[in-house]
Amino acid sequence: MPIIPKKLIMFDLDGTLAISKQALDEEMTDLLRKLLDHYKVAIISGGALPQFQKQILGPLNATKEQLDNFILMPTTSANIYTHEQGELKHIFAELLTSDEKKKIFQHLNEAIDLFGLRPETQYGELIEDRGTQVSYSALGQKAPPEVKAVWDPTGARRVEVIAYLKPFLPGFSIRSGGGTTIDITHEGIDKAHGVHQAMKILNITLSDIVFVGDALYPGGNDEAAKTTGVDCIEVKTVDDTKNYIRSIL
Ligand SMILES: [Mg+2]
Repeated sequence: MPIIPKKLIMFDLDGTLAISKQALDEEMTDLLRKLLDHYKVAIISGGALPQFQKQILGPLNATKEQLDNFILMPTTSANIYTHEQGELKHIFAELLTSDEKKKIFQHLNEAIDLFGLRPETQYGELIEDRGTQVSYSALGQKAPPEVKAVWDPTGARRVEVIAYLKPFLPGFSIRSGGGTTIDITHEGIDKAHGVHQAMKILNITLSDIVFVGDALYPGGNDEAAKTTGVDCIEVKTVDDTKNYIRSIL
């Protein structure tokens, strides 16, 4: 028997609903629209809102009623948006100060030089200020998925960089996201924060929620969600996620 969510089903994005940074495919948008007819749905990911618009909202093509059940948690829930009458409503932001961002940029640049990580071919900015989060993408923010896939398949390269950064950046959460990314926010902004905020926003309990992610394993960027004790569905591919959604519809 699949775990049936009572009120909210929460998804990771990259590797769970879509291939890293790619738009949702047609089959997935169809399944999500059907879910939104029955449940609240939340998506939490390291990307900022424009990335959510490109990957999710653009292709989704949902009705006003469906959108009103849809919660978006870009930058790992440092920003949270609900919908009202089909329109986005910004309800939460945990902003970094400009001094904090300056400090993060400085230490990231030091790490890039120290570890010899300046790429020969760079696709867009390496470090991006996302307001609530600073994101480092080893090959640039616009690197194609096939190039990214081979850069750090085990995550070991980023583990080293993160270990180096930690003593310089107390009070910040530093973690791997997507294929080549390191995301930095205020401490406490992780997928557990997203789960707790969802409970507050919707006035529901932990047992009303199911979380679906492809990185719930130790060190994975969905692991924090699991620490809340929420019911979790571990998927390995986007197809696994589709099968899970079909099983509850
Ligand atoms: Mg993922």
